[in-house]
Amino acid sequence: MDRDGIIANVTVIDGLGGATVDCFVAVEGGVIREVGAKADLPSAPRLPVEDGAGRTLMPGLIDCHVHLSLDGAPDAIHQIAGDPPAVAALRLATNAERSLAAGVTTVRDLGAKLHVDIDFRKAVVEGIWRKTPRLVLAGRPLTMTGGHCWQFGREADGPDELRKAAREQIKAGADWIKLIASGGILSPGTQPESPQLEEEEMRAAIEEAHKAGRRAAVHAHGAAGIKNALRAGIDSVEHAYFLDDEAIQMMLERDVWLVPTTWACKVIVQEGHEGGIPCHAVMKAEAALERQRESFRKAHEAGVRIAMGTDAGTPYNRHGENARELETMVELGMTPMEAICASTGRAAELLDMADRVGAIEPGREADLLLIDGDPLADISVLCEKAKIAQVYKAGVSVRASRA
Ligand SMILES: [Zn+2]
Repeated sequence: MDRDGIIANVTVIDGLGGATVDCFVAVEGGVIREVGAKADLPSAPRLPVEDGAGRTLMPGLIDCHVHLSLDGAPDAIHQIAGDPPAVAALRLATNAERSLAAGVTTVRDLGAKLHVDIDFRKAVVEGIWRKTPRLVLAGRPLTMTGGHCWQFGREADGPDELRKAAREQIKAGADWIKLIASGGILSPGTQPESPQLEEEEMRAAIEEAHKAGRRAAVHAHGAAGIKNALRAGIDSVEHAYFLDDEAIQMMLERDVWLVPTTWACKVIVQEGHEGGIPCHAVMKAEAALERQRESFRKAHEAGVRIAMGTDAGTPYNRHGENARELETMVELGMTPMEAICASTGRAAELLDMADRVGAIEPGREADLLLIDGDPLADISVLCEKAKIAQVYKAGVSVRASRA
């Protein structure tokens, strides 16, 4: 298919909770025009027909938390800190291509070095680089002096500096403002449970984001940092490895999204110090893992809105292996259908793109994933490269040279 065509004889998982066997999906000009039953497909259709031969068609994956300028090195912070701008940009472009090939058609990058993410998008808009998911970008993360991610973030202290730092990201072209409300697993000398930016500091940055029609996401592990961000008016909470009941209640009351990044923590524990991951990070991940799993389960059971995000780029959390997150969410109690919705329709809602992507329904762009197998029966088929039969972005196969 090249912007126009019909994929016939497929099971459609629509990204909104529905699954229907024996369907066809018609695409025109890169947009989904019709979803119908196989029996209703005209005998001489005017568009070229591809036989899906019993495969599954679902929306492309939307990863709401990646770092394209990090590429899964065991010591990720050291890698990003040492990259000169051109290397950071090439790394980002390569990771964008890997993500797309694996079926990730939209990403939200929540923190890059300098503004290489925004510069990269300029290269994409100008047609210099094509193979990339759709990009939702945050520019540099805003962190307190010496706070988590200071090695590539914008250090700022006090409400006035936070306000200015947020304005800088918006001026550069950021779609989201990323804030750091607690220490992190990867940054040496910080503790995930310790609060970092204060409520008033975050409020100033969030106000600037909202004034400009942008939204704000927060890195927060400990309950104190999470609550500070919630009181400050945050739109999405990332990680949240140490949720308590009050924080869950506050998320529900404010209708705030959780992006749980469950695979990121698990794989650090799995690869460990033997894999070259710094000791302090392994120890923090080991200490967090059980609490993280419990936090996810509780939030999910309580009905907190969850969108998929991997934190891809962190140690052994490689771009192109994003579907590991769905596998882990299922392991922690989601049904495969819930995990798929969190990675498609729900994720599009979080990113305010639900009118364009995230579902197989007429009017949305044809960002599609054709799979050999049934992810509702076994979610891990999404992790096997050989099972990804096709990826389309706006109706164009990403394997085509002009994609
Ligand atoms: Zn992150």
